Amino acid sequence: MFNVSNKRVDNVFWHCFYVKFILFNGDLMFKYKIGALVLLITLLCFFNFALAKDNTFSLLSKVIYLDPGHGGADSGAFYKNVKESDLNLSIALKVMELLREDGAIVYLTRYGDYDLAVSDAWNRKRSDLLRRVNVINNSNCDLYLSIHLNAEDSGTYHGAEVYYDTINPDNEEIAKVFQGEFQKNLNTNRDYKENSTKYLQRRVSRPGVLLEVGFLSNASERALLKSDTYQNKIASVIRNAVNLYFNG
Ligand SMILES: [Zn+2]
Repeated sequence: MFNVSNKRVDNVFWHCFYVKFILFNGDLMFKYKIGALVLLITLLCFFNFALAKDNTFSLLSKVIYLDPGHGGADSGAFYKNVKESDLNLSIALKVMELLREDGAIVYLTRYGDYDLAVSDAWNRKRSDLLRRVNVINNSNCDLYLSIHLNAEDSGTYHGAEVYYDTINPDNEEIAKVFQGEFQKNLNTNRDYKENSTKYLQRRVSRPGVLLEVGFLSNASERALLKSDTYQNKIASVIRNAVNLYFNG
């Protein structure tokens, strides 16, 4: 016979009540968790969308070669223990970071303090430049930028300027765009110039220019060029000019 005492029925009743209570509450917690998860996913999608809107990869698939001038035994201009080659590289690395943020594929002709001359070169400078010419031409890049600093004896000249060679028909337009951005943002009233005497520029057939981003021979500009803040500013102006050239 199936026989249960009142006490047992009582226990079963309370047991079921507790189970139901726990399940109900568990269910509620589950709903809360699902709700929180949906909210989290929605927020993530929103932020992702906002971020994607912010960074549209404006230079996606563009190949850009940066050429920090000099390196190794060749320091370029040298004033008060400041080597042009060091500053050229520092600025080029900053430009590289910014252009990569925009989706560009960026290469440098050098990533450290060395030149590209072959070991048994009879003319180290020429060998270095010739190898830079070859790597840039062989890359089939969309744009190349040689980065240098200017110098002259009086110490009074200042300001960034752009040189171009007519070997590529796009070079004058590139020079114009870059000089425009330099004039707007880097306190220079200098103008872009055709210059067909530069060893590298005369031989690189890819589109590109020589950027002389300031005068190392000018004391106040030298102080600026040495500073991380000003180098970041130059890099940012170069990034804007690259975007302007490709995207208008
Ligand atoms: Zn130089």
